[in-house]
Amino acid sequence: MYNALEKTSNLNNLNINNLKSNSTCSFCRTSKEDIGELAMGPGDSICSECLEFGTEVIKSYSIKD
Ligand SMILES: [Zn+2]
Repeated sequence: MYNALEKTSNLNNLNINNLKSNSTCSFCRTSKEDIGELAMGPGDSICSECLEFGTEVIKSYSIKD
């Protein structure tokens, strides 16, 4: 159990160093630590605030059309 936890934390450190985009919102560049969980896509991540903003923008486009 202890070994498994240690292995996981080592992997997390590696991911933070190698895949910085995955721990930062790709739109507002706010880090996961500051804003909370991010929705992750292939190569990009988005925070809840930007996700909400994006939804509003898409809604406004579909109203105009
Ligand atoms: Zn964001």
